Amino acid sequence: MSGESANQTNNTAEDNADSFDLVVIGSGPGGYVAAIRAAQLGMSVACVERDKTLGGTCLNVGCIPSKALLESSERFVEARDHLADHGVKASGVELDLPTMLGRKEKIVSQLTGGIAGLFKKNKITRISGHGSIPERGVVAVKDADGGERRLGAAKILIATGSTPASLKGVELDGDRIGTSTEALSYEGVPEHLIVIGAGVIGLELGSVWARLGAKVTVLEFMPKLLPTMDEEVSRLALRLFKRQGLSFTFGARVQRAKAEGETVTVTYQSASGEETTIAGDRVLVAVGRRPCTTGLGLGKLGVDTDRRGCVIVDEHYQSSVPGIWAIGDVIPGPMLAHKASEEGLAAVENMAGLPGHVCYDAIPNVIYTSPEIASVGKTEAELKGEGIPYRKGSFPFMANGRAKALGQTDGMVKILAHAETDRILGVHCIGPRAGDLIAEAAIAVEFSASAEDLARSVHAHPTLAEVVKEAALAVDGRVIHI
Ligand code: FAD
Ligand code: NAD
Repeated sequence: MSGESANQTNNTAEDNADSFDLVVIGSGPGGYVAAIRAAQLGMSVACVERDKTLGGTCLNVGCIPSKALLESSERFVEARDHLADHGVKASGVELDLPTMLGRKEKIVSQLTGGIAGLFKKNKITRISGHGSIPERGVVAVKDADGGERRLGAAKILIATGSTPASLKGVELDGDRIGTSTEALSYEGVPEHLIVIGAGVIGLELGSVWARLGAKVTVLEFMPKLLPTMDEEVSRLALRLFKRQGLSFTFGARVQRAKAEGETVTVTYQSASGEETTIAGDRVLVAVGRRPCTTGLGLGKLGVDTDRRGCVIVDEHYQSSVPGIWAIGDVIPGPMLAHKASEEGLAAVENMAGLPGHVCYDAIPNVIYTSPEIASVGKTEAELKGEGIPYRKGSFPFMANGRAKALGQTDGMVKILAHAETDRILGVHCIGPRAGDLIAEAAIAVEFSASAEDLARSVHAHPTLAEVVKEAALAVDGRVIHI
């Protein structure tokens, strides 16, 4: 999400200024993008960050390191199990985990350093420390040595993101029982990794360690995988993940987890009410994330929050207190980096009197497993629930020439279009590079395109994107290649 280069720096020369048009608290993909756009719009901007590096969860312990490990572990499996299919003989394929982890760290530090460079380029003042809002128009920053500094702020943008949610009875020890942060840096491949939660993190990081040789057991409270996903996609995904060796227990209500030496035990109540204990050597708790508002002083200021602790904002991203705005994981909605960035752009454009806006119907969602899973818009269940008439068309990767050449033919694309207007309402995809293919669908939804529009657009041959075109043709029963 950033340019490269530039070493991480401490506070910049301009940080002696005490008053700014905008002070952003948090430098994740929401905060840093907002800061850059505000600077482009002519505002004097400071960004307060308590971590040593910029970039927030996404760059440091989220999107980027997880994708680096997903890519590397996929290469490992490819070299070990699949290259021979292409007539490439590779013997003695071995895992070098320290190099794999080192590569991930290098990517993270290049990108976080890149943001420091972007801040310099845009003359954004970076201020290190924990930010809080003691009163309207003021941000107080406490540094690591306990020193405090007060900044005047005509506008304040809260972009403090989220942290992993915990589970009653499961005490995180930062080692054997940890969150995604620990699971991005295990020093060795676990023998048996117990994952609590079959959500996005559980599936992505569960896949990484399963590929690298761990036995992975996923305990999920709900009765099925990815309950908010399209039903057909979630069923196919379950079959494919099981084939890759992940094992799932649904309806499992985890009650406690305990570490003793190198062994961890997890006790859960099964769907039938029976209490079961399983043992492993690492536990990954991946049961969601919660908004990060601790120590900001919101209660005293009267900033309204919802039941989950998210800051409530209006359509311009203003909180209930004038002059205080919020975006990203700390406000309601999906916790996604691109959603945070778009909100950051929209919020500062609104501050500048421009029409900042995010189309929430067109936010793509991607799970970077193998195959990838991606969607935008409504599911069939949602359309049925809302009584919206629709037609659907789907097409399998199995019938696509490029997928065959890649040797990745599992999956399909499904398009849901309004039965009367043909407007595309939802696109669901599981298959190779689904995360890239969904961009076309997101634009179609954003521009209110019809399935006919997609079907008539020329798609290069041979590409995976032809599967999207064929699915659009299928909406009208005109599929060509099956
Ligand atoms: P954050 O990125 O959480 O940044 C908030 C920043 O504020 C942090 O740096 C924090 O230190 C700082 N901060 C908090 N409080 C204070 C304070 N009081 N003073 C100063 N600083 C403060 N999303 C995707 O879209 N795609 C993915 O592939 C993806 N993968 C993920 C993988 C993992 C393992 C995880 C954990 C998350 C992933 N996400 C992904 C989610 C994504 O990381 C978040 O949605 C995104 O980072 C939210 O951005 P944000 O700017 O709102 O907050
Ligand atoms: P999640 O909400 O995706 O999944 C949590 C899962 O844990 C759910 O399936 C839930 O039913 C289950 N669960 C909750 N309590 C449980 C319990 N007591 N026992 C067993 N299962 C339980 O959350 P996550 O996977 O932790 O991810 C957090 C956030 O990070 C998500 O909102 C996601 O949007 C974001 N993220 C996004 C990506 C991506 O876009 N590729 C990748 C990683 C994380």
